[in-house]
Amino acid sequence: MSQHHHHSAPAATPVVESKLPKVGTTIFTTMSALAQEHNAINLSQGFPNYDPAPELQRLVFEHMQRGANQYAPMPGLPLLRRRIADKMQRMYGVDINPDTEVTVTAGGTQAIFCIIAAFVRPGEEVVMLEPCYDSYAPSVETVGGTVVPVPLHAPEYQVDWAAVKAKITPRTRMLCINTPHNPTGAILTDADMQALEQILDGTNVLLMSDEVYEHLIYDGQAHASALRFPGLRGRTLAIYSFGKTYHNTGWKTGYCIAPPELTREFRKVHQFNVFSSNHPVQAAFADFMEDAEQYLGLPAFYQQKRDFFRAAMSQTRLKPLPCRGTYFQLYDYSHLSDEADLDFCKRLTIEFGVASIPVSVFYSDLRDDKVIRLCFAKTEDMLAEAARRLARV
Ligand code: GLN
Repeated sequence: MSQHHHHSAPAATPVVESKLPKVGTTIFTTMSALAQEHNAINLSQGFPNYDPAPELQRLVFEHMQRGANQYAPMPGLPLLRRRIADKMQRMYGVDINPDTEVTVTAGGTQAIFCIIAAFVRPGEEVVMLEPCYDSYAPSVETVGGTVVPVPLHAPEYQVDWAAVKAKITPRTRMLCINTPHNPTGAILTDADMQALEQILDGTNVLLMSDEVYEHLIYDGQAHASALRFPGLRGRTLAIYSFGKTYHNTGWKTGYCIAPPELTREFRKVHQFNVFSSNHPVQAAFADFMEDAEQYLGLPAFYQQKRDFFRAAMSQTRLKPLPCRGTYFQLYDYSHLSDEADLDFCKRLTIEFGVASIPVSVFYSDLRDDKVIRLCFAKTEDMLAEAARRLARV
């Protein structure tokens, strides 16, 4: 009998109907792999080519040596949550309770997934402004929700709040915003947030506010955190990322801030998704955050990179769009080629040695305005060389 089992063919894999039929490998993985294959400068996936502060690295190791090697508390280390609350007070003048309103996550993307999984039921609608980060829609679809897109348009990508309002129905569970905005580099202003307060007033709609680029904001503009607006605070789950702030996207650590009632539900999903996030890294951030200069200097640090890159790129024929925040700069190539933006990005990588991201992938209908995204979180030598290569296009 056992013999028989040994020799029979394995049972066929059951037929599965994909929950995400339109999803393949993410564009970030695809373009970074293509860049590597062709030895191209990789300005596609958003990450710095420089390291976090040596002191921060040292602190991680020190905490490992001191025994921070087992599970951290499920919601995050108490000291780190306290430092986060202090920072929110200092940056935005908001009172955040570190015990009931802050949860440390395994990066922004995990926070996004947990927010959606915790609150969106099958058939409920989630309104999102497109283009948007590529994890939002698949997260909604995984839990059976329905994505309701509102398109934003080049070159300003300003929000038409009347169009947003028109999409809010009794089925709307959540609205997603992102400022500073990936991939466009646009920001929401106080006036935008006030318009949003009016639209959501009297509704039961939750607000997912992706603020991972909070410190990457230029020309003296202030970040319009949703937490600052009284009409939004009670319905907001705001997402932040240590990776963007401290140049360590690979450490995969961030946090979610929300009122106690919402945090309670968020944590129910979080605890069964990752349980808790990286312990020595949390301990190191808790120490390192004492020095506010580290993040207060970021707008100037990145504005200089933006200006350097835009100046270097002026030798190319690509047309820059406005960049008010994030470490992404968009370029329009519609006057140079009719190619689909994905094909154009692949050709730039293979023939010219610079990898970028096509903006169409951030629209559910793959709307192609012939615009590409380049990441300028790179050293000046790399940015200059990328511009030299692109000057031949
Ligand atoms: N947020 C980063 C970007 O937009 C990439 C994140 C990822 O690769 N998953 O480039």
